[in-house]
Amino acid sequence: MEDPRSIFTMIIQGEIPCHKVYEDDLIFAFLDINPSSPGHTLVVPKEPARSLDELSDDSAQAIGRALPRISKAVLEATGASEFNVIQNNGPNAFQSVFHVHFHIIPKMEDGRGLTFPFNPSSIDHEDGARLSSSIRDLLSSPPSQ
Ligand code: 5GP
Repeated sequence: MEDPRSIFTMIIQGEIPCHKVYEDDLIFAFLDINPSSPGHTLVVPKEPARSLDELSDDSAQAIGRALPRISKAVLEATGASEFNVIQNNGPNAFQSVFHVHFHIIPKMEDGRGLTFPFNPSSIDHEDGARLSSSIRDLLSSPPSQ
């Protein structure tokens, strides 16, 4: 039977080697095996949630604390002064490992780092008013368990 654990859980549990950079009770961080630039780091909650919307408040808090600290160390270690933090959810949104993770990707002076397929368009204000109201309503109701 296929192992239901993600590859990141196996890394966290020490069954697959990695270049670890940080660990606490709730968070594990290590270098990406296919870096977009030197120091490309993955910050992973130990909780095996598949996508960010499924993550518990405790893990979310821990990620929020860890990201700036780890980013600072990555910048210092690589000499970069700019970086991207990116987080993908779902195969069509470029997620390939289905265990929540944040990429910290230093932007090097020579251009190495993330290049964006951003495809912006002007906001439709009628749509914006409807959507922002709907999101506000959802956020003001208590979280479902
Ligand atoms: P995603 O596309 O899901 O946002 O990113 C997954 C990332 O995990 C990719 O950048 C990929 O290179 C990295 N990755 C996949 N398998 C391994 C692995 O076994 N070890 C490490 N260190 N990184 C991995």
